Amino acid sequence: MNTVIKTSVKSLFIITGIFLFAIASKAQQVPVGKTEISKWQYGKNGAVSLTYDDGSINQFKNALPIMERLKLPATFFVITGGIPGSKYHGKFIGRPVKTIIKESASIPTNDKNFLERCSAGGYLGYKGTITYVTKAASLYDNAKTKEQAFKVMDELYEKVRKGEFQPGYQPCDEVLQEEGLTWDDLRNYGSRGYEISSHSITHASMPGLDSVNIQYELEKSKEDIRDKMGAKYTFSSEVPYGYENERVMKIAYKIYPALRNRMPEPWLKEIDRASKQTPGTTSKDYIQWQRGATTKTPLSLMQSWVDTAVSKNNTWLVLVFHGVDNLGYEALPHTLLDEYFQYIKNQRENLWIATFGDVTKYMREREHAEVKSDEKNSKLVITLSTSLDKTMYDLPLTLKTYVSPGWKKAWVWQGKRMQRVDAATDKKGTYVLYQAYPNGIPLLLSGKEN
Ligand SMILES: [Zn+2]
Repeated sequence: MNTVIKTSVKSLFIITGIFLFAIASKAQQVPVGKTEISKWQYGKNGAVSLTYDDGSINQFKNALPIMERLKLPATFFVITGGIPGSKYHGKFIGRPVKTIIKESASIPTNDKNFLERCSAGGYLGYKGTITYVTKAASLYDNAKTKEQAFKVMDELYEKVRKGEFQPGYQPCDEVLQEEGLTWDDLRNYGSRGYEISSHSITHASMPGLDSVNIQYELEKSKEDIRDKMGAKYTFSSEVPYGYENERVMKIAYKIYPALRNRMPEPWLKEIDRASKQTPGTTSKDYIQWQRGATTKTPLSLMQSWVDTAVSKNNTWLVLVFHGVDNLGYEALPHTLLDEYFQYIKNQRENLWIATFGDVTKYMREREHAEVKSDEKNSKLVITLSTSLDKTMYDLPLTLKTYVSPGWKKAWVWQGKRMQRVDAATDKKGTYVLYQAYPNGIPLLLSGKEN
């Protein structure tokens, strides 16, 4: 008799024929065939992602070799516009800047013209204007300080009209710190398993930009990454300065499926870098806990974040790094990183160490998965499928299936792929842990080789 029951992540039960088979053994507390999708890959207790912002050259020269030695994956959010060979560079899309400058002499900055003036601010033809744009965007992001943002714009345009700046163009400091980085390098890092992702074209201050210019910064950066690296590197992104601005996120989320700034999933609680909160209790399935060490953060505190992630079972620690060895924001010495990374590596039995994109994929696949179990001729047939786009969501999920206590090993087939895994025992009975692609191809589990 074959009984197939549709089950979800939350409750998985296999009944009747298989059940009778199970109660024949006293040790087994759950029916043979009962299958759970592990919260994290390989059945680990938690996850950690190492992420780097701004693509400063020392990240690649000094930190990447440490990760290479320890075989740790990481995600790099790079600014694409300054990399030699990029098709898209910083620009303002809108009316001629001369018209905007002229207008600013008679009309003060207000709600109607702020975004245009701020979007154009870096491209007025002078050096040193970007700092005003960065400051104004940050003030405008908070409703309470909007008026101050207008004043900053008025000050900028007045100085431009008075000719107080040197002619030319000067990008953000972050862009300059990337000097020396090439697409060849990035392709090389990508081929070694690092995730390379977008951090916009110019490290733009998005809350100060109008929709067209936000779109340009995100979409065209994506296009360059896709053309130079391949579509698989266009999954994740970080909007510069960690902004969670509603208007910006709405546009960004249509372009990149995974934003480190914020994600909309109802099953995910997010604690951002600025928050003092620690992962407490939650009714949600997962917590993304972002932490960024500054030059003042003691190593012991950085290590305690890892310990916390290990001690819970729902926590994804997302570490954010910027500068390395005196180059970049809050630059940390590579010797400190080396010690820290070794500490993380030592927790690999309990922690899944993976890129930002892979952890996002895993969680989404698991939340959208359906598992079916069946038994045929003392073999188990497990079907795993998701409603997600299979070309994008192709990461294997880890399944835990309870098997007959007589099984010492299992041969697991999915199409032409075969895994041989050892059986183990927990309170509920004998089980096997294995990798399953959510592609609808059934898995066949057998306690014997044939
Ligand atoms: Zn940045």
